[in-house]
Amino acid sequence: MATAGTIAPNRSTELLQQMIRLGCVNTGHADSGFETRAADLVRPLVELPGVEVEQFGPTPERQSLIARLPGTDPTAPTLLLLGHTDVVPVDPADWRHDPFGGELIDGWVWGRGAIDMLCVTASMAVAFADLARRDHALPGSVVFAAVADEEAGGELGADWLLRNHRDAVMADYVLTECGGTPLHTPSGMKLPVLVAEKGAAWCTLTVHGTAGHGSTPIIGDNALVKAAEVVRRLATYRPLGVIHDTWRAYVAAMGFEAELEAILLDPAAIADWAAHHHDRGFAADCHACTHLTLSPNVLRADGKTNTIPGRVELEVDIRTLPGQTQGHVREILLDLLGDLASSVEIEFMADAWEATASPVASPLWHAVERASARVYPDARCVPAITPGGTDARFYRREGATSYGYGLFSRELTFDDYVAMFHAANERVDVHSMALMETLWSDIAVDLLGG
Ligand SMILES: [Zn+2]
Repeated sequence: MATAGTIAPNRSTELLQQMIRLGCVNTGHADSGFETRAADLVRPLVELPGVEVEQFGPTPERQSLIARLPGTDPTAPTLLLLGHTDVVPVDPADWRHDPFGGELIDGWVWGRGAIDMLCVTASMAVAFADLARRDHALPGSVVFAAVADEEAGGELGADWLLRNHRDAVMADYVLTECGGTPLHTPSGMKLPVLVAEKGAAWCTLTVHGTAGHGSTPIIGDNALVKAAEVVRRLATYRPLGVIHDTWRAYVAAMGFEAELEAILLDPAAIADWAAHHHDRGFAADCHACTHLTLSPNVLRADGKTNTIPGRVELEVDIRTLPGQTQGHVREILLDLLGDLASSVEIEFMADAWEATASPVASPLWHAVERASARVYPDARCVPAITPGGTDARFYRREGATSYGYGLFSRELTFDDYVAMFHAANERVDVHSMALMETLWSDIAVDLLGG
């Protein structure tokens, strides 16, 4: 196989460079991102004979582009290629090259979004255009969506589109980020396919006490002291692991050594193993993918040095596994709070979501496997769950089979990929771009019966 440096720049590489230069930085404020520029950039590429193109968004600045290539058989399934166009902010001082320069250096495109996820979005646009230029239309329909606001939770992007323009953006099958980075293991190359995502039961715990003058501490009931005890109790949480279906399938497909496999399938053993395993990234991921996690991350107490606070707010990042509801989380919190529960209010944040999972045995899975085998005949696709969230969750919630995937060259390993997410010196190689350009159209043709 050729190395990255010997592959000529391709159409999706050039589009990726242009998208990076737009700098659609989403700070989480409604007045950021300005992804309409990305929709306008991609539009001429996909506006081809037979393609229906629309732009939707809550404001003129936050538009998403939807391109539809109708199939010949109305009863055939629809595949959505779902890419986001926004990126997270940068600290330019940490970068070796201009984060918004989109420079191509020795076969690698540098810049914010090169990995997350403009490489995927750009290659999907090119693959969609290739599908539109085919001589024979596919029985099933293909939709390409370049959506805003994924990095702030999708409220103005995929979530908004499904709420307001469901017919335009709904599909039976969805492909989006992340996955397809070669994992070189003793039992051969594996290609992770994200079929499930944990939920986020983010909540605010309001701890109540009684305010008073700081010079006479015993007159009050110090809410901050109580909150410190609440944090301590939350930190003692040590649940058993949950061996859910996706995890079982992941462990089986990875082909770990027997001893490690036994640990990873033992609900009582994973946490201890993870606490001491030398590969901290792998251990933390294995722990997070099998446990409900609680992380108290923000403490807010308004007041003055000479005033005993009567009220303190604590924000907790809680991540749930498939099947774990907010009711279940509330029970856990009440149990941990114990005798302090009567002074603590629990309020879940409005943008929390439950875990989602798609079946592994699906026509989309087999299409992904076959398309991947054309490039890596000896590799095995591995179903995986992620502790994070992507736009796929909105579609799984609506019943679509949704996977996070991609296809990267041997030069871009899983560890590099993970390390570059939201980090400095994000870059992707030209060879990976070429692989993905072909991947998306191969999957579409296979799945939709071309
Ligand atoms: Zn992303």
